[in-house]
Amino acid sequence: MSTARLTIDIDSLVANWRALDAHTACDTAAVVKADGYGLGAGLVAKALAKAGARQFFVAVAEEGAALRRMLGPGPVICLFSGHMDGDTELIRSHELTPMLNSVDQMLRQVEALPHHPFGVQLDTGMNRLGMEGGEWAALRDLALTQNPVLIMSHLACADEPDHPMNAFQLKTFREMTDGLDTPLSLAATGGILLGADYHFDLTRPGIGLYGGLPYTDALPVVRLDLPIIQVRDIAPGETVGYGNSWKATRLSRIATVSAGYADGLIRAMGTTGVVYSGATPCPIVGRVSMDLITVDITALHDEPDALTILGPRQGVDDLAEAAGTIGYEILTSLGARYERQVI
Ligand SMILES: *Cc1c(COP(=O)(O)O)cnc(C)c1O
Repeated sequence: MSTARLTIDIDSLVANWRALDAHTACDTAAVVKADGYGLGAGLVAKALAKAGARQFFVAVAEEGAALRRMLGPGPVICLFSGHMDGDTELIRSHELTPMLNSVDQMLRQVEALPHHPFGVQLDTGMNRLGMEGGEWAALRDLALTQNPVLIMSHLACADEPDHPMNAFQLKTFREMTDGLDTPLSLAATGGILLGADYHFDLTRPGIGLYGGLPYTDALPVVRLDLPIIQVRDIAPGETVGYGNSWKATRLSRIATVSAGYADGLIRAMGTTGVVYSGATPCPIVGRVSMDLITVDITALHDEPDALTILGPRQGVDDLAEAAGTIGYEILTSLGARYERQVI
């Protein structure tokens, strides 16, 4: 079989949730948007529900409905995108909790689903989602008569602990929620690590659960092994791959492995990326193509069956750096073609 194998260590993921939960004195939700950061929202949410997570966040109503079908009744499923036109039936029938982002969404909610739980998302400076100060001031009294279950906001720079934006957003969030006894939430993974001032009543980690920065203590969760389909020896001066972009300067042994940019291994990692055979790094040579990557394995004494692109020697953030991106993008790009194995 030439399909690459993605191994998901679900116990490590649960351990990461527990460890982030232990950082705070408040409740800890789990963010499972984008199909659980590419690992499978049902798989992740079921394991975390078993470990004690009671609240989950996804981006859009369709994700929430799919998650409800997988989780069954009980856990709270929140929607960051709020209540959009056309979402009402899904929100009602799947018991989803929209985080309302605007006056329009608030009116839609109270008209269409008057006694249905909702939260409010405030914009404290990121200028992405949520009600701004003026909007919130006008709506606050009406919103409070409807008993929101949560008021939340999101930090723009939490992965940079010294960034002044963190304290600014904290102050703004406090001012906007002063005197309320509604549960509050500000911190995602980065915010949890900023300290207790940022924790409020509920945290919303995503990336840290899946083993990514800024949670440096995270246990790795994914491993990706790429089977070698073919090996050949090439002479100095010969080239490898599309566009002849790599040329051998010595006698070289080239392995062709089964996975490419169609599997989320983006072309940009071709210039500096490596894959591993045990502890030995082997450089990616030539361009990453749709289904194949070529690797210089001249340094190896044996010919392995597979090479490891994500594993103990190279995590999602290492690979992200080689590709000029972030761990979030590496994870959420993981392809649908892999043979997925849960351990
Ligand atoms: C994605 C997201 C999270 C989770 O963020 P991480 O950095 O992955 O922990 C939390 N809250 C909101 C609003 C988000 O969009």
